[in-house]
Amino acid sequence: MSLPRRCPYCHSFFLPSVYRPQQSVCSRPECQRRRRTDYHRKKLASDAEYHQVALESQKQWREEHPDYQKQWRRQNPQQVENNRERQRQRDQKRRLRQRLLDKNNVALDLKHSVSEV
Ligand SMILES: [Zn+2]
Repeated sequence: MSLPRRCPYCHSFFLPSVYRPQQSVCSRPECQRRRRTDYHRKKLASDAEYHQVALESQKQWREEHPDYQKQWRRQNPQQVENNRERQRQRDQKRRLRQRLLDKNNVALDLKHSVSEV
């Protein structure tokens, strides 16, 4: 008979299923979902081929459902607005970084021409 284990997600005790004695996560749907997401994320980071297949199946799915994004945008205007705002902040940060780089380059150029004189 197997001993109770503690689920790493919800921290409650559970008995492994007799069909899956290796079970390490309890059977609550929420915990199983997290287990799958974690597995997927780890696999993406460690397995280049898995990553490639995931990218391709995403691309294929988008090609087969061209209206999905349009519909999603219509149904989630708040989310679209949030995404737009985040993108705006990323753009702004990039511009600031670029400006700082340009400034440094100008300073370097000045120093350079001074030393040449
Ligand atoms: Zn759990």
